[in-house]
Amino acid sequence: MTTKSETVSLIGAGLNGPLLALGLIQRGFRVEIYERRPDMRRVRISAGRSINLALSTRGIYALDQAGLWDEMRNIAIPMKGRMMHSAKGDLTFQPYGRDEIEVIYSISRAELNIALMNSAEQRGVKIHFQRRCTGIDLKTAALRLQDGHTGEERTLESDVVIGCDGSASAIRGEMLKLNRFNFSQQYLDYAYKELTIPAGPSGKHVLENNALHIWPRGNYMLIALPNVDGTFACILFLPFEGPDSFARLNTPAAVLEFFQSRFPDAARLMPDLADNFFANPTGTMVTIKCSPWHVDGRVLLLGDAAHAIVPFFGQGINCGFEDCTFFLELLDRHGADWKRIFTEFESARKINTDAIADLAVENFVEMRDRVADPHFLFRKKVELALESKYPGVFVPKYAMVTFHRVPYVIALKRGEMQDLMLTELCARIDRIEDLDWSKADRLIRDELTPLELAS
Ligand SMILES: Cc1cc2nc3c(=O)[nH]c(=O)nc-3n(C[C@H](O)[C@H](O)[C@H](O)COP(=O)(O)OP(=O)(O)OC[C@H]3O[C@@H](n4cnc5c(N)ncnc54)[C@H](O)[C@@H]3O)c2cc1C
Repeated sequence: MTTKSETVSLIGAGLNGPLLALGLIQRGFRVEIYERRPDMRRVRISAGRSINLALSTRGIYALDQAGLWDEMRNIAIPMKGRMMHSAKGDLTFQPYGRDEIEVIYSISRAELNIALMNSAEQRGVKIHFQRRCTGIDLKTAALRLQDGHTGEERTLESDVVIGCDGSASAIRGEMLKLNRFNFSQQYLDYAYKELTIPAGPSGKHVLENNALHIWPRGNYMLIALPNVDGTFACILFLPFEGPDSFARLNTPAAVLEFFQSRFPDAARLMPDLADNFFANPTGTMVTIKCSPWHVDGRVLLLGDAAHAIVPFFGQGINCGFEDCTFFLELLDRHGADWKRIFTEFESARKINTDAIADLAVENFVEMRDRVADPHFLFRKKVELALESKYPGVFVPKYAMVTFHRVPYVIALKRGEMQDLMLTELCARIDRIEDLDWSKADRLIRDELTPLELAS
């Protein structure tokens, strides 16, 4: 059993680190964070990763618990649905949820990170920047930290270490050397590139701002999320190799030709497209699963360090923030009995983080391909009709993941059952009026029980 006078050391001041630190310090622990980058409030750091994030119920709940959501919602833009852009420039809007409350929010990653660090520091968390963790002695939790200015390395004794150091975690790197440590990483054959649509005259958005825009093109796609300054942050998802691929986009002329022929309406809004394209890095996407997440009540992995997922369900940080919620609930229940907390944390979370990892890969196909298919859009309408007739019983998979805090593994399982029902109900129809409601009644009564919906 550890006492509160001991210090909890967190590695990584990305998104999960400062949120967890806040929760710990609010409960009376001393918390220190070690971050390899310089302080982004003082030094401009190239984004390198998505400029903004889609935030939904799980993330919002965690921010609310930390007393931050009221402030954060001022810098977040509600997105009510997907706006699909066809190759001809035709637009189709598909709402995400049933009403104006079921929306997701576009938020700047940097602003969210800064707000979290500010709040953590105001409450007494000490963040040490330019301190790269180069290793840890898992028997004693002594950390090896390298000073970014001098290159000097020193050892820091610590009581409890939580690795919030992202998908390339140094803490996990040490755990990999342990006997019987399970680890898998699966890269997509796709990469991504950030681009920008600038604001129009007088700083206004040049596309509908309450939507997530998608240009689905079969095996690749472009998306755009609104920013509060009138710009849109775009991400191009494209294979590494092949006829339509990053390998082929190797000159400014090739990039311009590709965009003008595939995304003509977006290309017209991107005056600096080629410069942007070559200035920004090409990012990889990976799913990481591992276990155990902890060593002897001394060391734990949390967030992407334990379970990195691909970004297509917009759940990476929502899932990480849910880790924080769950971890703090265990701390409230058990006190600082770290070994017990770490064990219960992993056994409850891993099954769910594995589930969202699989759902995220599956959603890639939906976003880049199926959203352009009229029959898919019809199924979505039927889903919403079933949800209003059977509230709390038939809840679309997207809604279970995004608008509720239903465990991901339940969303995955019920989602599979509901998909089969939809296939049966939508087989030979393309109008809601033709839906066989008695068959729907029977299927739902036989297969679905009411869902516990914590909001
Ligand atoms: C293209 C893209 C789009 C995404 N979109 C969404 C979205 O819309 N919605 C969503 O919920 N999620 C999204 N995600 C996922 C989300 O970005 C991650 O889940 C989230 O950033 C994980 O937070 P984290 O704190 O665990 O790790 P990170 O945010 O990666 O933070 C880790 C921190 O640790 C530091 N660090 C790393 N190694 C060391 C070391 N050795 N020593 C000290 N410090 C170290 C890093 O500098 C960093 O500050 C997206 C991801 C990508 C790549």
